[in-house]
Amino acid sequence: MGGSDADEVTSEVCRLYGAKGEKAVFAAENGQVIQYRDFCVVIGTTDTYVVDEEFCTCGDFTYRGLQCWHILAYRTAKALGTIVPRDEWYHDLI
Ligand SMILES: [Zn+2]
Repeated sequence: MGGSDADEVTSEVCRLYGAKGEKAVFAAENGQVIQYRDFCVVIGTTDTYVVDEEFCTCGDFTYRGLQCWHILAYRTAKALGTIVPRDEWYHDLI
């Protein structure tokens, strides 16, 4: 590794989004972004949220209209190719 596209992606996300970006990168690199058959989810600190490019089910996004780190994590994992595929239906687990 080193000097790879992945490094570029992660440093860019951290530069643009600061602490939020670091959280997103950590989640993306640690298998916390999971693609189920029906939904993609991000495992957060206290809960798991359904996400996509423009949407998240967490309070920050839903009630405060903020771009939360879960969406960033999703985008980062997508760019890094670290989304974990799960051959299950998420709606069966909730
Ligand atoms: Zn969120």
